[in-house]
Amino acid sequence: SRSEITYWGAGPALLPTDVLEEAAKALLNYNGTGLGIAEHSHRSALATDIINQAKADLAACLDIPDDYEVLFMQGGGTGEFSAAVYNFVGAWVVRKYKEIFGDVQGDAADHPELLEKLKQAVENELKVDYLVTGGWSQKASAEAERLLGSKHVNVAADARKANNGKFGIIPDEGSWNLSKDAAFVYYCDNETVDGVEFPGFPKSLEPGPDGKGPIVVADMSSNILTRKIPVKNFSAIFFGAQKNLGMTGITVVVLKKSFLPPSLSQPPVALLRTLGLPVPPIIFQYETIAKNNSLYNTLSIFDVYVAGQVLKKMLRTYPNKVEGQQAVTEQKAELIYGAVEAFPEVYRVIPDKTARSRVNVCFRVTKGGNVDASEKAFLEQATAQGLTGLKGHRSLGGIRASNYNSVPLEGAEKLANFIRAFATS
Ligand code: PMP
Repeated sequence: SRSEITYWGAGPALLPTDVLEEAAKALLNYNGTGLGIAEHSHRSALATDIINQAKADLAACLDIPDDYEVLFMQGGGTGEFSAAVYNFVGAWVVRKYKEIFGDVQGDAADHPELLEKLKQAVENELKVDYLVTGGWSQKASAEAERLLGSKHVNVAADARKANNGKFGIIPDEGSWNLSKDAAFVYYCDNETVDGVEFPGFPKSLEPGPDGKGPIVVADMSSNILTRKIPVKNFSAIFFGAQKNLGMTGITVVVLKKSFLPPSLSQPPVALLRTLGLPVPPIIFQYETIAKNNSLYNTLSIFDVYVAGQVLKKMLRTYPNKVEGQQAVTEQKAELIYGAVEAFPEVYRVIPDKTARSRVNVCFRVTKGGNVDASEKAFLEQATAQGLTGLKGHRSLGGIRASNYNSVPLEGAEKLANFIRAFATS
């Protein structure tokens, strides 16, 4: 039964049982309306209330400042690989246009010499910077290359180059080759597959004393709501809901409002075409989603509701919000790493200690020298004890324990005990 299992899968992840029990009732009859929550119109007042409450609770949990907007989107983290490119390249074009055209009125096509200057700027200066530290940031940079062409994509750091061709470290910041005026600098805060996590916000991306700094976009799909983050340092943070927030089906974008109207509107489609730049599908245009309070088209209100219940539970459980969760996350991670590291002749943590993830704990079982056989035995015995979902990603192999928020402290104790017992058996 459910209570006998501690699930360590990388996502979708465990959801709190009490949240699911309430959600099951809400699916049949939401708040006595006689209609389930997945049946109500996304345009109803009830749906809007659910969206607004979830936005407010997310802002409370993460201390999101007022000059940020929360968007609920579709298309997953993968969709955001594309959306980030469209929206921030659009913002870069608007910025360059203003620089070149100044107060000149009328249509861009009426000023061929200025338009030519803008074309040259796009041709020679447009860059998006990627810090490639694992499989997911690698995929994101590949999508940018697909959309823009590789000459506009600057891989400012590639962890494999400094680590014998393998992921497992965060390259030293001194080696990062950041562009002068990048449309954005992109990184993945926690690499779910490789078990690599940035220890904190990168020093070289911090804003200066004037508050100005690079435009930073981060993928926090697997470690959002596991630690406090300096939201004001980011232009956008995105994450799929399915690991620490809720169910698959919604993707959250926390976006600095200065990238939205009235501060900034995306360039006209005709200008993008003239410049040979991709035109964003309407569903990936942040300003469209923001203008419609995430209801440009039919959104799964059930998914937003479940996320909202998870956030309410976090606020009830931890008066100091995400910092309370962070303490527990770190306690669980220390239990697991502690058990693994106690037996260096049996286990080997895959990433370097300076960059290892608190959330996806990746290690090999080397007992007796036969890795395949000992990992098979490890997984079989773990499963027999109700510790499931521990098989590592197919690209990396080994064991991966995904220490998401719904895994209780007792679950981590159980896993740590098993790791010790297996080592000495
Ligand atoms: N980024 C990270 C860090 C992820 O872990 C994942 C999914 N595991 C994705 C992006 C892709 O997300 P999705 O499957 O929602 O597209």
